[in-house]
Amino acid sequence: MYDVIIVGGGPAGTSAAMLLGRCMRKVLLFDSGLGRNRWSNAMNGFISRDGYNPVEFIKLAREELTKYNIEVKNKVVKHVKRAENYFEVTDQEDHCYMARKVLLATGVKDRVPEIPGIEEKYGKSVHHCPYCDGWESRNKALGAYGLGRDAVGLSLSLKTWSSDVTLYTNGTRKLRREDNALLEANEIKICTAPIERLEGEGSELSEIVLQGGSRLKCEALFFSTGSEQQCDLATSLGCDFTSKGVVKTYQHQQTNIPGLYVAGDAARDMQLVIVAASEGTKAGVMINKELQEEFRLQITDVRV
Ligand SMILES: Cc1cc2nc3c(=O)[nH]c(=O)nc-3n(C[C@H](O)[C@H](O)[C@H](O)COP(=O)(O)OP(=O)(O)OC[C@H]3O[C@@H](n4cnc5c(N)ncnc54)[C@H](O)[C@@H]3O)c2cc1C
Repeated sequence: MYDVIIVGGGPAGTSAAMLLGRCMRKVLLFDSGLGRNRWSNAMNGFISRDGYNPVEFIKLAREELTKYNIEVKNKVVKHVKRAENYFEVTDQEDHCYMARKVLLATGVKDRVPEIPGIEEKYGKSVHHCPYCDGWESRNKALGAYGLGRDAVGLSLSLKTWSSDVTLYTNGTRKLRREDNALLEANEIKICTAPIERLEGEGSELSEIVLQGGSRLKCEALFFSTGSEQQCDLATSLGCDFTSKGVVKTYQHQQTNIPGLYVAGDAARDMQLVIVAASEGTKAGVMINKELQEEFRLQITDVRV
């Protein structure tokens, strides 16, 4: 029986593993190696690791865990089932493991728009988060891609980093009158023409080619087409979700299921590496406290 099984070895899962290892807990960490930012060359905004390669960052985290005897399996977890006061965790080879507590740090995956040319540019000059990549794109010709209020919000937000912002709706003309007015008032250009492809050398974006052949200068494109849970473990365990599709968690990453915690992008709150790492640590402390209480001998009859 493990004290804790952690599913997901990104910033949230590895941080929780370190904290729990330092608490002498018997921990098993599963990871399928599909970290959300693996498309990117640089992880920005993490103090002391600003601009560091995200894959190298996780490698370093894994190395640090060896000191704490964390058992790591590079495998997919298929099922997690709650038994009376423990969990049964089944991996891709149908091996079953038991743990007193489970932390899901399984992240989300982005719905990347299907535009020809996007693949080699994703994470380099096509992004979804201005807080992650806005500074590197500052003062460039920026594009916001998407539909509805989210895309309008994204275009307005991009004005923080550049005065040259265009909203691309890729063929949809359905913008509300008030949104049109708001964009116009903030000097945001609107392009509703269908996009044919993205152009630029290698991972660099330089132009958006529209159907019909006209071209618009665009040096970085940000999209707002949403994301979803990377796996359905939280759903099958019966977790409550927010309307945004992330797990509802309490102050220290607890869920509505006793003994089950969720940290990082899969849970509510901002989706940044440093936030995920912090949530993993919070979950680790709380899990350790729960285990301490469960194992503490209770005095039932005190006579002084
Ligand atoms: C292109 C891009 C660039 C980004 N740049 C930045 C940036 O510059 N700065 C920043 O702060 N944030 C950035 N982010 C956001 C950042 O990637 C996330 O906030 C962060 O990775 C969340 O960490 P996490 O541990 O919650 O999830 P993840 O890093 O996604 O890790 C989840 C892990 O769980 C594993 N997993 C999932 N399901 C299972 C399963 N069933 N069994 C076993 N393993 C499983 C996955 O393989 C993965 O390794 C970027 C995101 C993207 C997409």
